Amino acid sequence: MAADFAYLDENYHVVMETIKEAQAKYRSPKEAVTCMAVTKTVPATAVNHVIGLGISVLGENRVQEYLSKKDEYLPGPAIHFIGHLQTNKVKQILPDMALIESVDSAHLAHEIGKHAERCGKVQDILVEVNVGGEESKSGVAPSELENLLQTLAQMPYIHVRGLMTVPPITTNDKFLARMQEIFLDISEKRIDNIDMQILSMGMSGDYVLAIRHGSNLVRIGTALFGPRHYG
Ligand SMILES: *Cc1c(COP(=O)(O)O)cnc(C)c1O
Repeated sequence: MAADFAYLDENYHVVMETIKEAQAKYRSPKEAVTCMAVTKTVPATAVNHVIGLGISVLGENRVQEYLSKKDEYLPGPAIHFIGHLQTNKVKQILPDMALIESVDSAHLAHEIGKHAERCGKVQDILVEVNVGGEESKSGVAPSELENLLQTLAQMPYIHVRGLMTVPPITTNDKFLARMQEIFLDISEKRIDNIDMQILSMGMSGDYVLAIRHGSNLVRIGTALFGPRHYG
């Protein structure tokens, strides 16, 4: 029996309307906001349903889970890697990735560049920023960001397209505002070979505020697929 995915139709509709409203309220009409569907723990059948509804970007956190599901996915969406990436696993996912969003060290970037060269591609990446300075989180410290970007700018097989962050959970928007400042500040420096086109920020709980603070790529899991079930 086919699964009943009516709840996905409803969730998708709500998320898209909410994004559209935030866009109208806080952004100029020309600035598009892309909605990524974050697929962790979600069966491929449900992922395919939202692809059918119009989702054009999938966010993958875990190498093993992605590899076990990818052959079942409908073709079409761009795949982004958004989880912590170990250097020894870069090779397994790199050929499929339109964007690796979670780069936070020259060491990881170097490994990505090495495999990109072998695959005959220039790999687009984002640099992940630990805007809240949390011990438990990945991401480069804001104070180290410019230095890291200067190093990445020298690497011929990677191309930095912007920044990504997972801010601390708070009841206010101070980290979102801080991240917007960092993004604008780096944009103004116009570092050679570094583009600041994408600010990936905002999850189910804070995507409206993130759009308000300049995000143009929101990463939505729970609000689309419902609560995650870890097996
Ligand atoms: C899980 C995850 C998301 C989505 O989180 P929700 O709160 O379920 O929308 C977004 N970004 C990253 C990096 C994640 O790991």
